[in-house]
Amino acid sequence: MIYRTQANLNDVSCDTVRRFTAAFAEAKGHRPGVYVRTFGCQQNEADSERYVGMAEALGYEWVPEPEQADLILYNTCAVREHAELKALSLTGQLKHLKAQNPNRILAICGCMVAQEHRLNDIKNRYPYVDFLFGTGSPEKFPAYLARALTKKGRGFYPDLSYGITEGLPIRRESRFKAWVSIMYGCNNFCTYCVVPYVRGRERSREREAILDEIRALVADGCREITLLGQNVNSYGKGLYEDYGFAELLLDICRIEGDYWIRFMTSHPKDASHKLIDVIAAHSGDDCRPKIVKQFHLPLQSGSDRILKTMNRHYDSASYLSLIEYMKKAIPDIALSTDIIVGFPTETEAEFEDTLRMLETVRYDAFFSFIYSIRRGTPAESMEQVPEDIKRARFARLLETQNRISREKNEDYLGKTERVLVEGRSKTDPNMLTGRNEKNRLVHFVGEDALIGCFASVRILAADTYCLTGELVR
Ligand code: SAH
Ligand code: SF4
Repeated sequence: MIYRTQANLNDVSCDTVRRFTAAFAEAKGHRPGVYVRTFGCQQNEADSERYVGMAEALGYEWVPEPEQADLILYNTCAVREHAELKALSLTGQLKHLKAQNPNRILAICGCMVAQEHRLNDIKNRYPYVDFLFGTGSPEKFPAYLARALTKKGRGFYPDLSYGITEGLPIRRESRFKAWVSIMYGCNNFCTYCVVPYVRGRERSREREAILDEIRALVADGCREITLLGQNVNSYGKGLYEDYGFAELLLDICRIEGDYWIRFMTSHPKDASHKLIDVIAAHSGDDCRPKIVKQFHLPLQSGSDRILKTMNRHYDSASYLSLIEYMKKAIPDIALSTDIIVGFPTETEAEFEDTLRMLETVRYDAFFSFIYSIRRGTPAESMEQVPEDIKRARFARLLETQNRISREKNEDYLGKTERVLVEGRSKTDPNMLTGRNEKNRLVHFVGEDALIGCFASVRILAADTYCLTGELVR
């Protein structure tokens, strides 16, 4: 049984935090600041928006820099070692911020902390961190904070009982793009992956809660909604008999408005023809809302033996037949994928199977990763591929996909794209930047007033990662 609760921000702990923030504001003339830094995936970003939301509801105000904050929270990732090492190194740098202001509260949360060895590591090596908590019970954050504020000692909470809490306040980073988690956790246990161990078993939110959240976002003028789950295609399992992801998408499409619907991630073993048919029916240019013509379908490897060793439950032939069905149903669909190179025991020929799949599918974009050993996963004890070979394969993989991405981007030359404008370009402030429905970055000259709106842009130049164009009035 999954425990389902409704957020309650009126309990004793919340009163304690509110008393603290009120006294702080009275003494200093401003509210205490909260700073959250997020590592890793969109689910973590969505979680962070809830932590800031809760802190704000309890009297904190969001600040953009850790130096301005009275409460600093790092929300960590455990998918690859690189992300962990970065979070640990930045945790080391928090020491001087604590020394500057010993009343500052430092907390580390997320997937890295849900692993016992990392929890102990941080506990022992970083004694100035006040509390640590995992991913299972975000609603307990105020209680952990209250305990730290009342100086009852350090707190260590792996939070391994995983439920669903509705109604937590959210401070969304964007006013026109929103993450909506539809499910949490994962049951797939791919042999390389730590997610099932740090995010718990798969569980779906009730459809009414999801639809209510989306209705409110659309009423607020939200232009893009991304549905999140480790495997959205198994939405509803264990909760409903005849209601899955395709049905949920259909219900969302009934919430009228000019907005895009995205989702991630789909596991190829569960992506159904029915789902593809729903996308085909609701991705026409006149659809409001519109499901975007973009599908992220992680392949991981092109070798059938590696896929089996990874415990992925599909092979290259069934994957390709799914892609074929998709291309037939939605001829101009943009495809993207995740690839791991150097999975244990991968041979040169097996790696080349992956390269061949890139050439066959011709993805618009991909995310590629060098295999990273994760403690406690089955692949940890398999025969590892040497680092230099992994790196060389990674370089070849990038070279192949970069060429394909550039060629696919060149197809946009001369076309007019509908772009959701996100803001000023970081590299050239004269330019606005946004994405088309296929998630391609588009730069063009335009007014700030366009930020958060859809704009029509004629594409004049294309490279591997982005398109540049001019506004069509
Ligand atoms: N649930 C999603 C994403 C999970 S993590 C899915 O199944 O697609 C995101 C990506 O990180 C994975 O798709 C995989 O390509 C990569 N990844 C996961 N564990 C990894 C590891 N140990 N080393 C390298 N890449 C990894
Ligand atoms: Fe990890 Fe596989 Fe689950 Fe994705 S489906 S989160 S890769 S175990």
